[in-house]
Amino acid sequence: MMIDDHWLGAARRVVSPNANARPQGEISAVVLHGISLPPGEFGGDAIERLFTNSLDPNAHPFFNAIASLRVSAHLLIRRDGECVQFVSFDRRAWHAGKSQWHDGERLRAGLNDFTIGIELEGDDETPYREAQYRALADVLRALMQHYPLIRAPRIMGHAHIAPRRKTDPGPAFDWRYLHRCLTEIV
Ligand SMILES: [Zn+2]
Repeated sequence: MMIDDHWLGAARRVVSPNANARPQGEISAVVLHGISLPPGEFGGDAIERLFTNSLDPNAHPFFNAIASLRVSAHLLIRRDGECVQFVSFDRRAWHAGKSQWHDGERLRAGLNDFTIGIELEGDDETPYREAQYRALADVLRALMQHYPLIRAPRIMGHAHIAPRRKTDPGPAFDWRYLHRCLTEIV
């Protein structure tokens, strides 16, 4: 997978306005998320609409509460493995919210500053699909090659960095399988 000017060549591009400059320019870790809109339903364009501030608050009872959020992620990996990129990797996407993480000895907050946010279309209980693990492993390999500060131990879940607020990507996400995919020679 090629990365050209901080955009993934293989991804469909849907530009989100919900992004700004990274304060230190650092790109050194990845946060994995799970999302489905409405919750538990897959397919449709609601995630892309949420990230582009065009979600109709009346289209579903759940949307009213979230339509005015200003959020984004760098990438969304859909159930069939399709990648959609919303924010270029050198910009700060708004996916982690209030968050903290032990980076070695240092307790760091505000993980949006230095992470790449990847949403997997799914929920906490439904197994993620093989096509998603394959696409995610391809993306992560490309990111680690392109941004050498990113290494496998610096790939975390949203639940790891905001444990009181967030559970995603949830118990359905198989971290061991991801790491097996990552080390496979393909
Ligand atoms: Zn999340």
